[in-house]
Amino acid sequence: MRLVLVGPPGAGKGTQAEIIAARLGVPKISTGDIFRANVDGGTPLGLKAKEYMEAGELVPDEVTNEMVADRLAQDDAKDGFLLDGYPRNTEQAKVLDGILTEAGVILDVAVELVASDEEVVRRLSGRRVSKSTGKVYHLEFDPPADPDSDDLYQRSDDKPETVKHRLEVYAEQTAPLVGYYEQQGKLVEIDAIGEVAEVTERALAAIGAPE
Ligand code: ADP
Ligand code: ADP
Repeated sequence: MRLVLVGPPGAGKGTQAEIIAARLGVPKISTGDIFRANVDGGTPLGLKAKEYMEAGELVPDEVTNEMVADRLAQDDAKDGFLLDGYPRNTEQAKVLDGILTEAGVILDVAVELVASDEEVVRRLSGRRVSKSTGKVYHLEFDPPADPDSDDLYQRSDDKPETVKHRLEVYAEQTAPLVGYYEQQGKLVEIDAIGEVAEVTERALAAIGAPE
């Protein structure tokens, strides 16, 4: 199965992507995670992406599309994948369609996680990440054992000023994607409010995943 996960920052894409990909037996490809690993590693790709990420802007399409094309060309993505955070605008969606057409395959479904601004702001402001394991926690909804541990950090783009801008970028550039997939008959909208497991079950049911 080939699927993409769309939704505002903080809707729970990364959380759901991990679980759904494991259930479907496909690799989870999170463009934000790949970018962050490259920024941390100081690679040429990371240097290109860094200033955009810090400003809450999208990394330019040519950089992002090339990175995704390379990732999708790897063996483990041949029989399926779950893309988390890509595409993020209609241009990227068209490029993805082109990559898949060239490979002789199609995208099966686009899952949209729907959550209000109020809810995503609450989720983003409490998001904390473990340096050592990469696990994503929430101070209130999925609290780490020790909330004061030095191992935990807040993503720099989760600070309130940047969050506001990321939501604007989502509304202007990413939300139109939903219409693109709707026209293709591939859109599935999921209410992202509720327990993590509940949201997972809604998504799996909606995409017709085997039990
Ligand atoms: P969130 O999960 O909160 O939506 P991500 O981890 O997906 O955030 O993305 C973090 C940042 O990485 C984005 O704000 C953007 O700068 C960059 N990024 C991730 N995916 C893309 C993409 N498909 N196109 C452009 N920039 C991207
Ligand atoms: P995204 O990748 O869309 O930016 P994440 O998966 O990182 O979102 O989730 C954002 C924050 O919200 C994290 O701190 C995560 O622990 C928390 N979270 C995810 N799903 C839920 C949920 N169903 N209910 C409450 N909090 C959630």
